[in-house]
Amino acid sequence: MKKKESHLILYYKSRLFDLMKIRANSNMDDWMSVVSDCLHAEMILFYKQDMENTKFYKISSFYNPFQHPVKNKLPSKKVKSFMQGFPVVDQATLQTDPYFSKFNIAFFIPDQEMEDGCLFLSIPDHIYDSLIHTDLHTFVLESRKFLQLKYRLAVVENDRKQYIELFHVTEKFHSSMDTDTILSETIYTLQRVYPVFEYTLMLSDDVPHQVDLPIKSLQYDAIDDMALESYVNGQIQMATLRRSNQTLLYAPLRGKQGVYGVLQVIAFANDEFNRHDVEFIRQLANTAGSALENAKLYQQSVQSIEKLRLMNSISRRLNTSTNLKETAQFLTSEISNAFDVSAIGFIMIQEGEFHLLDGSSQVFEKEEGASYIDFVHQSFLNAKESLFISNLNERCPKQQFRFASLMAVPMIQEDALKGFCVVLHEEPYHFSFDVFKLFQSLIYQSAMALTNSMLREKLEKMVITDQLTQLFAKNYLNSRMEASIGEDEQGTLILLDIDNFKKVNDTYGHQTGDEILIQVARLIKENIRSTDVGARWGGEEMAIYLPGVSLETGEQVAKRLLAAVEKNTTPPITISCGVSYWNKEMNETVESLFKRADVSLYHAKNRGKNQVITTNNRP
Ligand code: GH3
Ligand code: MG
Ligand code: MG
Repeated sequence: MKKKESHLILYYKSRLFDLMKIRANSNMDDWMSVVSDCLHAEMILFYKQDMENTKFYKISSFYNPFQHPVKNKLPSKKVKSFMQGFPVVDQATLQTDPYFSKFNIAFFIPDQEMEDGCLFLSIPDHIYDSLIHTDLHTFVLESRKFLQLKYRLAVVENDRKQYIELFHVTEKFHSSMDTDTILSETIYTLQRVYPVFEYTLMLSDDVPHQVDLPIKSLQYDAIDDMALESYVNGQIQMATLRRSNQTLLYAPLRGKQGVYGVLQVIAFANDEFNRHDVEFIRQLANTAGSALENAKLYQQSVQSIEKLRLMNSISRRLNTSTNLKETAQFLTSEISNAFDVSAIGFIMIQEGEFHLLDGSSQVFEKEEGASYIDFVHQSFLNAKESLFISNLNERCPKQQFRFASLMAVPMIQEDALKGFCVVLHEEPYHFSFDVFKLFQSLIYQSAMALTNSMLREKLEKMVITDQLTQLFAKNYLNSRMEASIGEDEQGTLILLDIDNFKKVNDTYGHQTGDEILIQVARLIKENIRSTDVGARWGGEEMAIYLPGVSLETGEQVAKRLLAAVEKNTTPPITISCGVSYWNKEMNETVESLFKRADVSLYHAKNRGKNQVITTNNRP
């Protein structure tokens, strides 16, 4: 009798041994068949303790060749208490639970390392008898040894696979600074390791992404509290939803400086997470978090280098160039290149008038552009603060603007608005805040250079302009004549002097005398071309130089002017003109040209004034 029973256990042991040796990757079903073979079991149910220990057991595997209905039914309290108390539950106890009455023996297989198990068997009476009386302990012991070994092997194998995956993915992350690669590798690795789970990446808005992956935004999508909790605390969150029979796991994508998102993993029905899975997912999420952080820092450094390069090139250029036209053209082209703008305008304000600088887009010369200029100007009159408008049509619903995105920065000197730069784009929300900040600092940096070169140009003009008559000054006339004698074929100089001007002053006063000077100057400007030079020579004497003009034409100009002055001055006055002429053969100088014109003028006065005289000019 005893020999036969030992044989049963020996047979069981040898079968388990085969299972371990021959089929290292044997599964629970293989074990069930061995148990069924050895004990002639008709039906077997194996419950395993649930990982979180909240529920006591759930079905791990079953053997049921006769297709008895198997439900994931929990043992009754009574059976449970027996199971916890004794390693074996006998037929009599099982009979008290309607569902478990199908079975005639149950074993408790406790374990510290793995989850506790509970085996329910339905076996023939003679096997039952031999088992319960002699071989019970050995059976439980051997089963436990087998399950333990299998569990350990599985853990080792699983760890090995997972660490290989982690290693590969880390390697890939280190060789990539691309966010999309990191995100897709994270998902693909998880899908390889756990194909049964479902994954979603919930990313914060500072993680840019284009790939077609299950990605949600942490900001805008309705995300649950657990995801938020995980994101805020940087900790794993896990919970089972009984109703939908799902287990949710949230792992934060953590870097050294912050959390960049949360990985959501959903397990369905019986595919629960054990602590190895959780550890793997945690490590993968951390690796992804660090990789995202690196990619972000890399992108930031590329951008800062680009910003520095731009600022550096602009400040170098501003320091070397004093020409307003060049400075403006350089700035507009740099800004257009750096910011992807549709239109750019540099508007300077002088004596209440707008001046559009060279390089500005054509749209600002038209009526359409004026509406933007007016809008910006009005804003700056209220507050001299830069404008960053994402949608102009939303801001001013009454108007219809073609360009929805607008940025404008004022140029201020000594608290006065000297001008502004405005950039536009058709698309709303086109400019980022980063771009705005850079644009703002560029204009701040350029404002001084622009207003300075404007001031310089104004000063230069002042130096060459006579303030009373707005004709050119004597110095300027001299330099233009010198240049002309070097470059041109010929030229004519007219010196003119107001007749009896002393009398005008004496009769009408100095003020009226000044007005006469202004009137004559205006008539000069009206009677010459823009390439000619009308200048105040001194006192009430003026000069006109006509580069490239023949003596005949020059005399005509003088006579025309003479008539115009006589006719168009109040009080009426006349002028006398002395004309001199040069051409290439004459070897002329500025001084001799003046001398001869002065002699001519002297003759004109002597011969009765109000006339044009040319003397000794022809070679
Ligand atoms: P003539 O026909 O011979 O040229 O006689 P004239 O009186 O014009 O000549 P004269 O040289 O004797 O006097 C020139 C006067 O022009 C003397 C001066 O008071 C006046 N004058 C010179 N510059 C100005 C000026 O800027 N404004 C005014 N109102 N008068 C000036
Ligand atoms: Mg005079
Ligand atoms: Mg005079």
